[in-house]
Amino acid sequence: MTATVQPPVDVQAPYGPSAPPALPVIELVDVGKVYRSGSLEVTALSDVSLRIEEGEFVAVTGPSGSGKSTLMHILGCLDVPTAGVFRLAGHDVQALDEDQLADVRNAFIGFVFQQFNLLAYLPAWRNVELPLIYASVRPAERRRRSLAALATVGLADRAEHKPGELSGGQQQRVAIARALVTEPGMILADEPTGNLDSVSSADVLELLYELHRDGRTVVLITHEPDVARRAERLIQIRDGRVWAVGDEEAERQADADTADIDQPAGA
Ligand code: ADP
Ligand code: MG
Repeated sequence: MTATVQPPVDVQAPYGPSAPPALPVIELVDVGKVYRSGSLEVTALSDVSLRIEEGEFVAVTGPSGSGKSTLMHILGCLDVPTAGVFRLAGHDVQALDEDQLADVRNAFIGFVFQQFNLLAYLPAWRNVELPLIYASVRPAERRRRSLAALATVGLADRAEHKPGELSGGQQQRVAIARALVTEPGMILADEPTGNLDSVSSADVLELLYELHRDGRTVVLITHEPDVARRAERLIQIRDGRVWAVGDEEAERQADADTADIDQPAGA
């Protein structure tokens, strides 16, 4: 698939003017995130360094409150780090202004959330077309692409149904269609199966795997070990720090290593 939404020139530049937007290579170097409200500070991420290559399927896992969603917000250009460097396709994301960040999100990234985040008063296809409205795509083209995205997730016959008339699994598939409709190179899914029964969870995961097989980069955030285990690579975070990255072999090694080390207090 090729994306028709053009990313900002400075993001597209490394691939040449005529190349379709390439999938981003993600690079985080010593990234930290501190939330401040008044005199209170919460350190959500510390010294996170990692790289995600084009076309990878990566799971990010860790207990509740470990910083997974914060990491997703940074990867998705929804928020910026308070320390370190985040590069997307070779470009320093901190150097982009709000408008450029929005352009990057719209061109490169599809989001899927635990709560589906669908608008209850709109039929499925109207929910799916929303990112195309932000991208200034014409109405007829929006409808065509929304229906195609719904067909991709197996819901061609539910286009006129409102979210309340669909099961949880179907609602999440509508949300995935909405994430897909701009044909982004990367899908970021934050606990996408968290509100689903096991059958619907399996459907949604299978769909994410299909998107990966089509060449997309998929980052799946989950605290469910059996969901995480299916990914090609697992990034495990605890207390805002990455403590294991890699394939299963690297991970067994990390498990063996950490077993020998005294855990810091609170870990
Ligand atoms: P996870 O997704 O792994 O459950 P989060 O990234 O949501 O973890 O949160 C990591 C830490 O940052 C938690 O201690 C959480 O309370 C805190 N946190 C998250 N978002 C905010 C925010 N907007 N303001 C202040 N603290 C926050
Ligand atoms: Mg979370």
